[in-house]
Amino acid sequence: MIKILANDGIHPDGKTLLEEAGYQVDTDKIPQDQLADKLPEYDVVIVRSATKIRKDLIDKCPNLKVIARAGVGLDNVDHQYAKEKGLAVFNTPAASSKAVAELAFTHMFNLARLVHQSNYQMRAADADFKQLKKNYSSGVQLRGKTLAIVGFGRIGQEVARIGLALGMRVMPTDPMVDSADIDITLYEPSNLSLKVTVETVDWEDALTHADFITFHVPGIGKPLLGKEEFARMKNNVIIVNTARGGIVEEQALVEALNEGQVAGAGLDVFENEPTPLRALVEHPKVSVTPHIGASTVEAQANIGLELADKILAFFGD
Ligand code: NAD
Repeated sequence: MIKILANDGIHPDGKTLLEEAGYQVDTDKIPQDQLADKLPEYDVVIVRSATKIRKDLIDKCPNLKVIARAGVGLDNVDHQYAKEKGLAVFNTPAASSKAVAELAFTHMFNLARLVHQSNYQMRAADADFKQLKKNYSSGVQLRGKTLAIVGFGRIGQEVARIGLALGMRVMPTDPMVDSADIDITLYEPSNLSLKVTVETVDWEDALTHADFITFHVPGIGKPLLGKEEFARMKNNVIIVNTARGGIVEEQALVEALNEGQVAGAGLDVFENEPTPLRALVEHPKVSVTPHIGASTVEAQANIGLELADKILAFFGD
């Protein structure tokens, strides 16, 4: 029998699929310092980001055949080494694209209508309704605005799909992608399906035309947006980063928000996680979430099912 350790858990849908195929799936968490004793009895280990699968642990597990990461980033797995040793390494890069794209728009809508601020202030016992109504009556709409999408891969294309459906002018930029066919399918009863070919523009065009700019690139070790870039952007631009901390330079962003150059920023990722810069988190023009881009019920179910499918296919079931 194939034995699987899902050390950081697995969605029940994925677990059921594996168990129905006759696999044993253990979900009791084994502490990191005891894994070297227990993991050798397993064929497959499934991790999220907490459990680390490093070289020395791989060396102690000659029976291990598959390392499966429920999610995208493989920072916690020595994946190159594992592949050299003949192990299969899986992740689930597509399962959460829709969830991340929707979170990017959650921040855009929040910032466009100042919902993040009014949420706080309406709660105060002495909130002055009329005054707040005045304060929050200067929001902007998304329809008709230019949306720059930096990184036109899986998530960027999902963002384009939503942006097009909202009536935005989408301007993706990506050095590796010239264009992509975006499918917009409406549900019953219309059953209408549209395919729109969207071409990318160069970075400077996207930067200088954006009313909203959203990042969907991998971590590239240096900021794409800093003081110089803010200076070239339209006044009152809204910036969203759900990709990786450090892509938008945080200190420069605080200054651009204070100076009024940037109207608002929506951030799911930070240079320092889990202790992000206080000046950002507490800034009234910032809408924040704690790195939850992939954390929806549907995305977690998709991740569990996609991993289960890949594991079953690997063993020929
Ligand atoms: P992807 O690989 O499908 O697409 C990334 C695209 O970025 C590629 O097409 C690549 O060519 C492009 N790119 C690289 N460097 C660029 C640059 N300098 N300028 C413009 N484009 C550039 O990746 P994806 O699945 O769309 O994921 C995008 C990002 O979202 C990743 O950083 C990923 O870590 C992040 N992510 C975040 C969460 C979250 O919880 N917030 C969840 C999943 C993924």
